[in-house]
Amino acid sequence: MTVKRLIYYPQDEALLRQKSLRVSNLKNKRLKRLVQDLKDTLESQPGAAIAAPQIGVFKRVAVAKFGQNDDDDEQPMLTLINPEILEAGEPATGFDGCLSIPDIYTWDTPRPSWIRYRALGEDGRQIVGRVEGMDARVLHHEIDHLDGILFLDRLRNPDELYTPIADEDGKTKMVRLSALPRMS
Ligand SMILES: [Zn+2]
Repeated sequence: MTVKRLIYYPQDEALLRQKSLRVSNLKNKRLKRLVQDLKDTLESQPGAAIAAPQIGVFKRVAVAKFGQNDDDDEQPMLTLINPEILEAGEPATGFDGCLSIPDIYTWDTPRPSWIRYRALGEDGRQIVGRVEGMDARVLHHEIDHLDGILFLDRLRNPDELYTPIADEDGKTKMVRLSALPRMS
């Protein structure tokens, strides 16, 4: 079990902005280790997916748990090596959050409503799949990481960022980030 340290925005922004390289050698011990590190790290986190640059490795590899739409069961972790979008549906605005940008959420990023994609699995075999709704958002978000793009870049309105705050009754509510007093 190797849980890697996540890299965070804004302190590690330069790393999160790096473009990752395609994996060319699939029979590589380091790739196997990377996939296992991604799985172990995602296991330790509340998110649905993780991309290699989030643990400081600039290879086009992500691990995702699809099945994020209502009424779907969460699926086992799927490894996506060199994932590519083959075809995508009309963009729809919806939820976004990122393990590298903790406690900040939005409902304002447009992402494709469905995606037909191609990737290689960890056994090196080609996967062609179709995901929709939240799963398409998750896949699109992860491919963005491989290109150095963060969800903050995709906001339609930069003011549409929310953070959870506990009120006096201990209940958590989402408060607009810009409504909070500045700390510095
Ligand atoms: Zn992310």
